[in-house]
Amino acid sequence: MRGDRMKRASMLNLPASFLLSPSTPTSDQILTGVSIIPVTMSGIVVIFDFDKTIIDVDSDNWVVDELGATDLFNQLLPTMPWNSLMARMMEELHLQGKTIEDIKQVLHRVPIHPRVVPAIKAAYALGCDLRVVSDANMFFIETILKHLGIRECFSEINTNPGFVDEEGKLRILPFHDHGCNLCPPNMCKGKIIERIQGEGMKRMIYLGDGAGDFCPSTKLVEGDYMMPRKDFPVWKLICENRHLVKADVREWNDGEELECILLQLMASMISIKEMENCVDNNDTNQLLDCKLERIALGALA
Ligand SMILES: [Mg+2]
Ligand SMILES: [Zn+2]
Repeated sequence: MRGDRMKRASMLNLPASFLLSPSTPTSDQILTGVSIIPVTMSGIVVIFDFDKTIIDVDSDNWVVDELGATDLFNQLLPTMPWNSLMARMMEELHLQGKTIEDIKQVLHRVPIHPRVVPAIKAAYALGCDLRVVSDANMFFIETILKHLGIRECFSEINTNPGFVDEEGKLRILPFHDHGCNLCPPNMCKGKIIERIQGEGMKRMIYLGDGAGDFCPSTKLVEGDYMMPRKDFPVWKLICENRHLVKADVREWNDGEELECILLQLMASMISIKEMENCVDNNDTNQLLDCKLERIALGALA
């Protein structure tokens, strides 16, 4: 077994340390070993909430606070839904002379735990299909992901439209209409999960923190994993309604635990049998992808 790994390592110029690691390797080891290989063939979809999951704060609050509009935000909050309030806040900031560049600068220094980006890159390198499902907006999320250099790791961003209009003002709109009474009026994340489930046989890992992540938690099926952030609203809702969640629940506190648990789950979910089926296929590119992926798996075993 070790000889086989060594042979594969030398064939692919992978460091032996990566392949012989006795325990689950870190994201850094995976990334050093495999670089970033876009093989979305593991059959695993990893769905990330954005605020307080990928980044460590709420991006809406971050922008409002950093641009000095907290008082107005708090004053208007009881009077309208969050999504409409953010659209209104962007108008107010525009009137106050704040530019798109000011907003971008604020977004570029958003706090993020140092292990989150390596964890995302490792999941991508292992062939997982990564997607964002967020009640923030497209402008904030794309600006931050591009700045972090991980936009390309995600195949899809499901969030409220956010774009700069001809006056240079950021416009924020609702994502969709839905009839779900668990969710805010502009977005039901559960409906998005059902749409992804409809794409075919895939296993899901869902990471989130907020009350809006509870509805999608109830859509996950046996064999999926729900990763709620401990002591945050979705974790509390799951604890109180354990019977409504069929997925295995793995809680996490911070980016370090997020990374560790995510890597362990991916290692346990990607079965060698799937890989064997794949290797039987004569397509050369696919064969190579499979070999690379098996090496990554070997390191995780
Ligand atoms: Mg969140
Ligand atoms: Zn819902």
